[in-house]
Amino acid sequence: MLQVASLGSGSAGNATLVRSDNTLLLLDCGFTLKETTARMAKLGLSPANIDAVLITHEHGDHVRGVGPLSRKFAKSVWLTHGTYNALRDQRFTHTKLFSAHASFSIGDIEIEPFPTPHDAAESCQFVFGHRGVRFACATDLGTYTPHVEHMLKGVAGILVESNYDETMLSNGPYPPSLQARIRSDFGHLGNEQAGELVKKLDHPGMRTILLGHLSEQNNTDDAAANTMRHYLPAGDNRVTVLQQHSCSRWFDIATSDVSAPAEALPELA
Ligand SMILES: [Zn+2]
Ligand SMILES: [Zn+2]
Repeated sequence: MLQVASLGSGSAGNATLVRSDNTLLLLDCGFTLKETTARMAKLGLSPANIDAVLITHEHGDHVRGVGPLSRKFAKSVWLTHGTYNALRDQRFTHTKLFSAHASFSIGDIEIEPFPTPHDAAESCQFVFGHRGVRFACATDLGTYTPHVEHMLKGVAGILVESNYDETMLSNGPYPPSLQARIRSDFGHLGNEQAGELVKKLDHPGMRTILLGHLSEQNNTDDAAANTMRHYLPAGDNRVTVLQQHSCSRWFDIATSDVSAPAEALPELA
């Protein structure tokens, strides 16, 4: 199996669990250790159960609880050299550096990192694979490059950033300079861009579309979901909007049955 659950998603904090039968990964930890522990408990888990923590970039909404969690539970933290350098004041029990261009494995989950344009030292995102089924996290992009599109091709599930509704951002409380940063290629994807990206990636094997990293000021669940549905076939029921203040259920990206390699058909003479 390959399953995903959000502990919370939005501009105020992000953390995602990815698990297979034998491995549990925490992707980012933008909540305090206390809050992370409370949210994991709702899923019947504790930070002690995590095999490793992966970090996308150094912004506070992704790393707030990482140092305390790593130290208290002696967990290894995986991050790029640039992110490590940006977080050099933090202490982790174990630090594992990786290249954002090279795949690696933790337990029985394969991890394909890829660089993202977002305005951080060396921001990246990940595709998680298990027995040939792949799930991607694609938040904090700003824009999607040809390389990002290439990496996301064929995924069975995606957590895509749907940060802002254009009208709400324009009419909202943010000063023009901050609006420009959010809209830029180094900021966040808005609802329309998220829809365009998912439409490009859509294929019959894509079953799960999670919308995340919504802005509480500049977006609503309905605006994000309705915009995404506009880019999908009529009656599509694959979309879920992740919440900032509560964790999600587990989403099955693949069950053991589905991910088992298909038997080769006998050749017909
Ligand atoms: Zn960020
Ligand atoms: Zn973020």
